[in-house]
Amino acid sequence: MILGAGPAGLAAAWRAARTGRSVVVLEAAPYVGGMAASFEVGGIRVDAGSHRLHPATAPALLADLRGLLGDDLQTRPRNGRLRVAGSWVGFPLKPVELAKALPPGLLAGIARDALTGPLRKPRQDTYAEVLRAGLGPTLYGALYEPYASKLWGLDGSEIDGEQARRRVTADTPWKVAAKILSRARRSRATGEGGSGQGQIFHYPRRGFGQIVEALADAATAAGADIRLSSAVDRVVPRSGLDSAPQVRTADGTTVTGRHVFSTVPLPRLAAMTDPPAPAEVLAASGSLTFRAMVLVYLVHGGGRWTSFDAHYLPADGTPVTRISEPTNYRESADDPTDRSVLCVEIPCAPDDATFSADEATLTGIVTDTLARTGLPPLNVQEVVVRRVKHVYPVYTRGYGPALEALDTWARGISGVTTFGRLGLFAHDNTHHALAMAYDAVDALTPVGFDHGAWAMARLRFADHVVED
Ligand SMILES: Cc1cc2nc3c(=O)[nH]c(=O)nc-3n(C[C@H](O)[C@H](O)[C@H](O)COP(=O)(O)OP(=O)(O)OC[C@H]3O[C@@H](n4cnc5c(N)ncnc54)[C@H](O)[C@@H]3O)c2cc1C
Repeated sequence: MILGAGPAGLAAAWRAARTGRSVVVLEAAPYVGGMAASFEVGGIRVDAGSHRLHPATAPALLADLRGLLGDDLQTRPRNGRLRVAGSWVGFPLKPVELAKALPPGLLAGIARDALTGPLRKPRQDTYAEVLRAGLGPTLYGALYEPYASKLWGLDGSEIDGEQARRRVTADTPWKVAAKILSRARRSRATGEGGSGQGQIFHYPRRGFGQIVEALADAATAAGADIRLSSAVDRVVPRSGLDSAPQVRTADGTTVTGRHVFSTVPLPRLAAMTDPPAPAEVLAASGSLTFRAMVLVYLVHGGGRWTSFDAHYLPADGTPVTRISEPTNYRESADDPTDRSVLCVEIPCAPDDATFSADEATLTGIVTDTLARTGLPPLNVQEVVVRRVKHVYPVYTRGYGPALEALDTWARGISGVTTFGRLGLFAHDNTHHALAMAYDAVDALTPVGFDHGAWAMARLRFADHVVED
C-alpha cells in the first residue's frame, strides 16, 4: 500500500508493480502528482509553481524518465532573471553584467566582506549566522535575508543553520549570484565568465506534470491500482508476526497489505496512526510547521508576456518570490500564440490573511509587484488561484530534536516506512523524491523489509541539496 500519489508514491508504485508486487495507491486529491502535478489554465498547461527537472537527476532515473517520455522530455537552456539591488540581471548570470548593475556601495561592501571572510565564524547555528559567515553580511542582507523572511516567514536568526546548508549549497540563482558577486571586482577587470551555474534543465513538452502522469500510467500498466479521492485517515501498523498493516480511507474502506509506504506529511502520519504515538512524540510533531503557498495564475492576452522562463524576486518589498511563464519552459505546438499565462508564487502561513485573501486582493499584489520591479504590465483575461497548505517544511531554530523524536518513532512502527519530501520533512526536489522511492522498493525482500539497506539509503538522502 502506498499513501500519496506524488512523484515519490508513483515512482514506488511503478517500481514495485514492475517486479510483480500487488500495489494499491491511495491518494487524497482527485488527481495524481501532488506538488509536481500540472493542470490547465486558459487552455495552457501550468505547474504548481516553477518546476524543472534538474540536471543533478541520477542518470538511471533520467534514463527511466526518458524511456517513459521519449522526445517529450526536452533539455532546455535556463533563461531567467534575478532582481538584485533594484536591477534585473539575466540568469545564468554574467559577472560583468552583474557588476555593472550593482550600486558601488554594495560592491564595496562585498569586497570588504571578501577580505574579512577568513575571520568570520558563525556564532550560532542559525541561517543568518551560517550565511553571514560564509557569504558575508553584505550579500546576506541584499539577497538571503529578505528572501528568507518571505519564504519561511521567519527572520534568518530564527531559522536553523541546517536550512542554509541544505538550500544554499546548490547552484541556485541566489548562490550563483553570491559566488559571482564575491568575484565581481576581479571580473570587472578580467571579464571572466561564471561557471558551474545551472545552465540547463529538463522539462516535458506538456508541463512538469507529464512526468507524474507518465509514472502513473506506467504503474497502472504494470498492475498498480491507483485510487484517487481516497484520503487515508487511519494507519494501523503490524502488531505481531502474523498480522498485516492496515489503512482506512475517509469513506470507511479498509485496505490490508504486507507493507505501507507513506509519503504524506510526517506529522500527519503520527496523528493518524493507531495505536497513537506517545504524547511526547505528538507534542514534538505539533512543533513542526509547514509553509503554505498561494499560486496566482493570470492569463495574459496578446502573446508571450516576456521571453524569460522565471523572474526571481528575493526582496523588493513584495511577498512574491517568483513569477514564471510556463510556455517559456518548453517548445510545444500545443501552446497558443495569442496568449500566455503567468504563475505567481506567494509563500505564506496556512492560517494567515494572504492564504485566504480573495482574488482581487491577490491580483492587486501582483499588479503592485510588476510596477515596483519594472516588469511589463499585463493584459489580464482570467485569474485562477490555488492554495497549497503543505509546501515547505520550516526548519525553525532548534527543530532538530523534535524531528528526531518523530523520526525515531516512525522508524519503529512495524510494517510502515515513510519517505518523500513531506514524509521525511525534507526540503527536497522531485529527483530526490524519486530516488527515495526506488530505494524504498529495493529494500522490500521476500522475507520482509530490509531495515539495514533502508538505513543506508537514509544516510544518502542526508546529502540531498535543494536546487531552485
Ligand atoms: C513552488 C515549488 C517549486 C518547486 N520546484 C521544483 C523544481 O523546480 N524541481 C524539482 O525537482 N522539485 C521542485 N519542487 C519540489 C517538488 O514539488 C517535490 O519534491 C515533489 O513533489 C515531492 O514529491 P512527493 O511525492 O514526496 O510529495 P508530494 O508531491 O507532496 O505528494 C504527496 C501526495 O500525498 C497526498 N496525500 C497527503 N495526505 C494524504 C492522505 N492523508 N491520504 C492520501 N494521500 C495524501 C497528497 O495529496 C500528494 O498528492 C517544488 C516545490 C514547490 C512547492
